[in-house]
Parts: sequence; C-alpha cells; structure tokens
Amino acid sequence: MNAPSTHRPDPTRADVVLATDLDGTFLGGTDDERTKLYSAIDANRDRVALVFVTGRDIPFIRDLTSDGWVPKPDYVIGDVGTTIVQGEDFETVPELEADIARRWGDAGDRVRAMLDDVDWLELQPTPFRYRVSYYYDPERYDPSVARRIEEAGFDCLTSASTYLDVLPKGVSKGPTLLRLVDHLRIDPGRVLVAGDTMNDLSLFETGLRGVAVANSEPDLVSRVKNLENTSISRGNGAAGIHEVIETLASLRGAAA
Ligand SMILES: [Mg+2]
Repeated sequence: MNAPSTHRPDPTRADVVLATDLDGTFLGGTDDERTKLYSAIDANRDRVALVFVTGRDIPFIRDLTSDGWVPKPDYVIGDVGTTIVQGEDFETVPELEADIARRWGDAGDRVRAMLDDVDWLELQPTPFRYRVSYYYDPERYDPSVARRIEEAGFDCLTSASTYLDVLPKGVSKGPTLLRLVDHLRIDPGRVLVAGDTMNDLSLFETGLRGVAVANSEPDLVSRVKNLENTSISRGNGAAGIHEVIETLASLRGAAA
C-alpha cells in the first residue's frame, strides 16, 4: 500500500481535507501567494488531504500537476461534479460514478437536440460524459431556457456570466463532494471548501466549512455572506485559502 511518494495522506486521518475549486481559487492570487500555499501543503501532506472540485476535466489536471509546482490532488471531482477520480493515476471511483451515470441516462444527444434552437448558446469544445456544457451570451440570456432544461429533468447551472452547464439532476460540485465525504467516511468537520464563482455555490450550501476568496464574483458573495459556516477571505485565490487553512491545520511557519 505504501506508494513511493510519501505524499499520499489517508483523507480519513488528515486534519484538514481541502476541497477547492481551481480557477480563481486554488490557482488564483499571485505566483508568490500560490507558492506559499502550495509549499505549506507539500510540507504538511500527511495532515492535509487535497480534493480538486472543478469544472475542468482530468487531462487539464494531469497537465497542471505534471511539473510539481501545483500539488497533486488525492481526489478530483471534475466536470462540475460529474467525474470523480482518485490517486496519482486518476482512477475512477466506480461506486460513485455509477450513480452519476444512472442519473444522466446517456442524455447528451437529447440535451443537444433540445437546445439546438438557442442561438445564444455555444457548445464547449470538450468531450462530455455525464453533462453538456455551453458558453452563453449573458446579454441575451433567457431564463425560459433554464426552465426548459429543468422541466426535461436536468439541472441548469450558470456561472461567471460565461458558462452554462446541463447536469444530471442532483449532481453538482457540492452534492458530489458530500457523496465522496460519506463514501470515504471523512469527518465532515475536517473539510474546508473554497471557491470563487456561482458554480461553487453548491459547495458552500453543503453546510461544510467554507471560504469564498476575496476575488469571488459578487453574485456568489451575496449568496454566501450570511451562511454560518462560510467566511470571505481578505486575500485573493491561494492567499485566501492560506489564511484559513493555516489556522485549521496549524501550518504556521511551514512555508514562511
Ligand atoms: Mg473558479
């Protein structure tokens, strides 16, 4: 079981399980702020487990972590909550993925056909398994399309005035994270979620402890500022996470 890298913590024993969005959050802030956070995590990897929760796909994360600057995650919840993989080799977690596949029901073609007439949507050039994702024009956005998507039995998620995702009902970043926490029997009190845009809202709505970084989109801030378990950081991106995680895991001094 012992991997050559000593960096694989057991998430059930970690002091903190950082479940973080990437763009604008874990990848946000200056290079210096990012280096400080990443070094602190690397130096305490037996006590900090890392889950990336992102709209990005697995090939992006493989590239991102290949040169050793950005720490490798223990788990990735990718594709806006519709993919879950584990470990260095990004292996799927079959028990969790089966439920997502069942909820989606191979609906890609049906969804694309249903939205074919909406000319303010542009299909994203990414292969999707259990979602269909578009870029949208916020000037022409029409809420009746979201209703159409929901009436057809899916969830519709818009984010950063740019992205519109059609997701299996009940699947998004937050619910998938909760399923992972439950599956791994992680103490929810040890989880810290972090994000910056509206597609992270479901993470904060889990009730898990959360930090919305200072550069968060205003819509997200207005939705989370009154949540009991969520704080708004002073620093942007990585610096904002560092503020909170330092306290939680007593990382002070690790990468001063
Ligand atoms: Mg983001």
